[in-house]
Amino acid sequence: MKKNVKLLDLVRQYGGIRDEIAAAIGEVMDSQYFILGPKVEKFEEAVASYCGTGHGIGTASGTDAILLALMALEIGPGDEVITTPYTFFSTVSSITRLGATPVMVDIDPATFNISPERIEEAVTERTRAILVVHLFGQTAEMDTITKIAESKGIHVVEDACQSIGALYRGRQAGSMGIAGCFSFFPSKNLGGFGDGGMVVTSDAELAARIRMLRVHGGKERYYHDVVGINSRLDALQAAVLLVKLRYLDGWSARRRGNAEYYDGRLSLVGGIEPPAVAEGCVSIYNQYVIRARDRDGLKAFLAGEGIGCEVYYPVPLHLQRCFSFLGGRKGDLPESERAAEETLALPVYPELEREEQDYVIDRITAFMSR
Ligand SMILES: *Cc1c(COP(=O)(O)O)cnc(C)c1O
Repeated sequence: MKKNVKLLDLVRQYGGIRDEIAAAIGEVMDSQYFILGPKVEKFEEAVASYCGTGHGIGTASGTDAILLALMALEIGPGDEVITTPYTFFSTVSSITRLGATPVMVDIDPATFNISPERIEEAVTERTRAILVVHLFGQTAEMDTITKIAESKGIHVVEDACQSIGALYRGRQAGSMGIAGCFSFFPSKNLGGFGDGGMVVTSDAELAARIRMLRVHGGKERYYHDVVGINSRLDALQAAVLLVKLRYLDGWSARRRGNAEYYDGRLSLVGGIEPPAVAEGCVSIYNQYVIRARDRDGLKAFLAGEGIGCEVYYPVPLHLQRCFSFLGGRKGDLPESERAAEETLALPVYPELEREEQDYVIDRITAFMSR
């Protein structure tokens, strides 16, 4: 029988925490304190303590978290930042927005994360930072990347927007570089009721600089030391996120359970390759991404069967029109390009039921064995 299985169904999650959320939002409304303030500070402290970093600085989005971290490191024209093309747009746009040059290098086909070997080859005397992305909920190979950065005297910034709570050899995503950036976009594992983001860092000086930059570049209102931006987390988001943070690890564990269930069954289906988890990594599965033979055919078929699935990402960023000035050509980064052609994200959210997963598996099997 046909079922409707969404890629993500936030209504189910909300159903379980409705009253707590209403109470938390009620407190903010009663206080009429909306921008930054005590709720935001409490949430910043909670996330910093969750990550084991000394500081958390709430921002208006994950995109701004990345932008502010790079701004605070004074990255600008003439500087190169090494990153991956197989990521969400704003990883790379944050670099170009500052006039710096993104140097995109290829990914490890097993994990979809940036390849440390390719990083090493790309370092020049202009390289200022490596902007690492922990894609789909799994951290990149941080030991090797950190070693390269240390030996060359460059920063590591983590785009951990998809990976809050993911572990790398016991360490939290976002806590391993000079700064870690999170997004609280609703579809992330820790999602607000709108946009939101945060930078975490253990560097007090950097934290102070980001705090200043997010409020137009001044410590004291109307006195501006540098030209900053307006990018603040608001109290309503912080109230919602404080409630949800308590559930985060439980939700991520359920995603892992769902992923394991898929892994076991989909590995038996010809033409399907379940995602790999690298040694030492604990994934939070923001997305469960398979490779499939005839990916586009499978996607269309599943859509027709009522199954939500999505391609992350159809065009690697070195081939985006807006970045054509960087001179990227098809064939430059073959693994990223192949991933863009072969991958498909399946529903994996915590409230997904076994019968729904069975339906997804059954329909994939039916298509692949035609
Ligand atoms: C979601 C995301 C961002 C941007 O976050 P927003 O909050 O939507 O601005 C940046 N990088 C990655 C890898 C993301 O997944």
